[in-house]
Amino acid sequence: MCGIVGYIGNKNSAEILVEGLKKLEYRGYDSAGIAVFEKDGINLVKTKGRMKDLEDKLAERGIPQGVCGIGHTRWATHGAPSDINSHPHRSGRVTIVHNGIIENYAELREELEAQGRVFLSQTDTECVSHTIDSMYNGDPIDAIYNAIKKFRGSYALAVLFDDHPETLYAIRHESPLIVGIGEGENFIASDIPAILSRTNKYYLLESNELAIITAGGIELLGADRAPIEKDVFVANWDVSAAEKGGYPHFMIKEIHEQPRALRDTICPRLSEGIDKLFDDEAQNLDFNTIKRIYIVACGSAMHAGMIGRHAIEKLARVPVQVEVASEFRYDTLLFQPGDAVLLISQSGETADTLAALRIAKANGVPTIAIVNVVGSSIAREADMVLYTWAGPEIAVATTKAYTCQVSILLMLAMRMAYERGTAEKAELERLAAELNKVPEIFESMLSSDKEEEYKALAESYKDCEDLFFIGRGYDSSLCWEASIKLKEVSYIHSEAYAAGELKHGTISLIDEGYPVVGIATSDAHYEKTISNVEEVLARGARVILLCNEDVAERLKASTKKVADDFIAIPLVDEFIRPLAAILPLQIFSYYAACARGCDVDKPKNLAKSVTVE
Ligand code: GLU
Repeated sequence: MCGIVGYIGNKNSAEILVEGLKKLEYRGYDSAGIAVFEKDGINLVKTKGRMKDLEDKLAERGIPQGVCGIGHTRWATHGAPSDINSHPHRSGRVTIVHNGIIENYAELREELEAQGRVFLSQTDTECVSHTIDSMYNGDPIDAIYNAIKKFRGSYALAVLFDDHPETLYAIRHESPLIVGIGEGENFIASDIPAILSRTNKYYLLESNELAIITAGGIELLGADRAPIEKDVFVANWDVSAAEKGGYPHFMIKEIHEQPRALRDTICPRLSEGIDKLFDDEAQNLDFNTIKRIYIVACGSAMHAGMIGRHAIEKLARVPVQVEVASEFRYDTLLFQPGDAVLLISQSGETADTLAALRIAKANGVPTIAIVNVVGSSIAREADMVLYTWAGPEIAVATTKAYTCQVSILLMLAMRMAYERGTAEKAELERLAAELNKVPEIFESMLSSDKEEEYKALAESYKDCEDLFFIGRGYDSSLCWEASIKLKEVSYIHSEAYAAGELKHGTISLIDEGYPVVGIATSDAHYEKTISNVEEVLARGARVILLCNEDVAERLKASTKKVADDFIAIPLVDEFIRPLAAILPLQIFSYYAACARGCDVDKPKNLAKSVTVE
């Protein structure tokens, strides 16, 4: 959350900062602002609202002229979204942008106010600018290192000093920050897309390493202030991957990118055979010693984990517990020998998931991460990392990263089953062949007539305010993902329910016309789920049934009404059905949101890459 950019070079920084911030807007859009060194000193332009509002303000004021500046797009944690709470914040001779939370901000503020310092905003961030300024005696490095000793919590900071117009300073703890390496110009950013059109080379800062950046060079100091050398990372993402490419929204673009993303994630891994699957990535993992897996994640990544649980337990016969990272990290954890912790995070920076990873490691438990962003904190710190090759995901609502996560979990189940001898090799090879077909299945389901059909259905439900998703087994796990997708982008309230659980209280909400989506793709649970669908139909519900196409044909032809509407998915092997079944629901959510006039890529109050707890 929160996007930071910084530029120093020979070009007009304001334009580069705005361009970078637009690429980071998915990280927060409560406010936006920039600070640029102009001839008369540092000038700030900031405003509540989106990048569009900042651009309007800049156009009105005149674009600041200067070759060095910093910028920020905010997801407010402390202090309402307002002009005054927008970053950058300036105190005395120091101007900063911040991503993170200063947990002891209240006591710091009290201390600083007692020294006579006047605060302008309600943010925790203003304590940072005041603290650095209060410690500034002409040496920026001294001031920054001394100031950070006072902070508890998380921070990625870009700092400007009034009397150092040719230098940008950057430091981080917990929150992400990269330093982009250009020629005659250098950058800082929270994430790669912000700088990708300018450079694909960058340094990753570790905790409390300081970058001192000028147009001509980058000096790096370790947490102990000693000079350090770091590896240069090269991002292999295509610049166009972070553009909308003719689609109206990133969400629908990313839905359409799934065949490619799934192909890259699945096919090369399966090409060498089951016995080699993940060999390059998880060579240290002895699948036979694992007796229990905790899958720890947040939001959709956790829902992917729920699908993974079904596959791993069924195929590899290993018990799996799926845990919400923000709870897991504060639970009484009773680890036992043979436990492993599997973390899932698109950004690889999710604060709670990262904390869970560190707890597992501190307890000596092996950690495996499923992550999309190469070199992210979780990827770097986990014992093993299995990358989803989804490419940059910009829409706040995940689609392609989620399906890639599920595909990795299915492959993990296969490899574990092979090592543990819980499934025949021939059967696993058959499943591999099925999984290899997924990209093509997605391609055919994304053919325009199908998309039009899901769109029309979504439009016909656009006015509903509440909705249930019900299903059993892995269909129940799908309900969770379907429900979050719909809620986050369309603001239609929905709940995911295990179909058998509805009658234990919640069915009292059902009355005439109440929308219910029944998901019944699982062979083992189909009849039971249909019974539950009939129960809600009998009470007047308006039902969409998502089922296999052969079943849909049969039910549509029957004189007995089982649903008002159908979403039929191609009849594919049950192993890959959770993947095929989510696609129409992603499209349904997208078009429901469009029909309701919602800002699909930037749902209100949300942001991507949740770097605060
Ligand atoms: N805590 C800061 C604020 O509220 C930064 C928020 C963030 O990084 O998400 O302004």
